[in-house]
Amino acid sequence: MTAPALSALAPQIASCNPESLSVAHAQQLIREYVQPIESSEMAGLNDALCRVLAEDVISPIDVPAHDNSAMDGYAFRSGDLGASPATLTVVGTAFAGHKYGGAVAPGECVRIMTGAVMPMDCDTVVPQELVTSASETSMTLAPGVVRPGDNRRLKGEDLAAGKPALRKGKTLHAADLGLLASLGIGQVPVQRRLCVAVFSTGDELRGIGQQLDEGCIYDSNRYTIRAMLARLGCDVIDMGIVKDDRESLEAALRTACENADAIITSGGVSVGEADFTREMMARLGDVAFWKLAMRPGRPMAFGRIASNGKSAYLFGLPGNPVAVMVTFYFFARDALLRMMGAAGDSTPSMRVASQSAIRKKPGRTEFQRGILTSDANGNPQVRVTGSQGSGILRSMSEANCMIILGHEQGNVNAGDPVDVVLFDGLC
Ligand code: AMP
Ligand code: MG
Repeated sequence: MTAPALSALAPQIASCNPESLSVAHAQQLIREYVQPIESSEMAGLNDALCRVLAEDVISPIDVPAHDNSAMDGYAFRSGDLGASPATLTVVGTAFAGHKYGGAVAPGECVRIMTGAVMPMDCDTVVPQELVTSASETSMTLAPGVVRPGDNRRLKGEDLAAGKPALRKGKTLHAADLGLLASLGIGQVPVQRRLCVAVFSTGDELRGIGQQLDEGCIYDSNRYTIRAMLARLGCDVIDMGIVKDDRESLEAALRTACENADAIITSGGVSVGEADFTREMMARLGDVAFWKLAMRPGRPMAFGRIASNGKSAYLFGLPGNPVAVMVTFYFFARDALLRMMGAAGDSTPSMRVASQSAIRKKPGRTEFQRGILTSDANGNPQVRVTGSQGSGILRSMSEANCMIILGHEQGNVNAGDPVDVVLFDGLC
């Protein structure tokens, strides 16, 4: 599918102003512009963690395959339940994997273990701890202890044969892999991994191990970006630090474009920079340079560039290390997930009481680094990490969540609810 030009999308958002674009508008533009890459491969279950399903998986079998017991106890016919205690004769035993093949008449029961196939004609299980008395040969049960059908798992109640077990677009986590194994499926079609080229721009940047001349800094963004891409399951082409000159930038952008699905750069996209990054990006394709109504992370370039018949999406992230992470998480990440064909809301937020007042101007979105904890009563609460400067990576390193103060939001009072997105989840 070919993407519409960015300029063709812009009129759809009437109030869109590239000099002060709201976060929501920028996210919408990116979502409309970026198209999924339809290309899949087979992956074994042990290699499928965090991959995106490329097709629905239809269950080939019923799970469970037979009615079976949910408890250790006694299986019997519910017709034997009555108003007075019932004493039933034990006629056999059913273990998981070893069924009781005989008939069970009224007044009879079978000793049964969890997971064992329900004996013929039995529809109810009484857990062993609920029987009044039991011996090798008989079991007595008081009235009202169980109802007909209790403690029986029905054939196909987990997954029914012929029905979709997992849908296309699902990102596979631990439970999904176990679920696929429970169906006897060892390989699944997944979207191929995205390939993302990464480089840093700026004459002041030095690589680890290089001498730090006066006014120079180590290039940290590339490591942050690589790690965030690894968490998304992308393959990375690390192109290092690219010098601020036309030839180097053109060569780097062309190589990246010809070899990757997407390109992520950092630095060089702010207005008035004495460098050539913006110029080269614009020359090679359909690229918009936005000033976002947000903090941190105001400048960002987004679009698609082409070289020698190949094209790639481009995310020109700002240079400041915190701004890089924020723009990656709230713009690039969604776009990359969309390219991968991943479905669903990937960053659920929750409302949590702020421990202290936060100053905030309406008219821009602020992403503050937060620490989410529980108060003495177990209720969640959040506080901002120390200094919130856009270059201070420590604020990000100490945080376990992002506090999102929306576009219209003004000052926050202590105790007011704020939106929080957690960095880590269980899977
Ligand atoms: P720029 O957008 O290029 O003006 O960069 C903004 C700020 O981010 C400057 O202080 C840069 O030195 C810093 N910066 C740019 N690239 C990197 C990088 N790769 N690692 C760490 N800091 C960077
Ligand atoms: Mg720069």
